[in-house]
Amino acid sequence: MLGIKLANRAYHKAWSGEKLSRREKVFILGRVVNKTKLRKQIGRVTIDKDNNLSEVFCPKCGCYATDFIDMGVEYPEVWTKVYCSRCRKYLGGQDNSRPYHVLEDMIPEQEAAPAE
Ligand SMILES: [Zn+2]
Repeated sequence: MLGIKLANRAYHKAWSGEKLSRREKVFILGRVVNKTKLRKQIGRVTIDKDNNLSEVFCPKCGCYATDFIDMGVEYPEVWTKVYCSRCRKYLGGQDNSRPYHVLEDMIPEQEAAPAE
């Protein structure tokens, strides 16, 4: 159990932009998954013929939390961006196109779905 003191100090520092100690960082962000685990996590993702991913997460830290940003263009224009909530990696979005996620380019080659 981590103390309330550590929590208060960590959050206070995070908000004021002070450098956090390693322990404080881990407290706020949780542990970053290791590379082997991450590779496995990416290897598990499948993509169907409509480019839908079975899972979406940040390929840098394995985090599932994302920040969705609407760039505020008028309908029917579409411009959105998605970033990892933890490491701020750009994860994709939509720019007058179908939604894109960086994982699409990272998953291992898969056998093409049989033509219908
Ligand atoms: Zn991340």
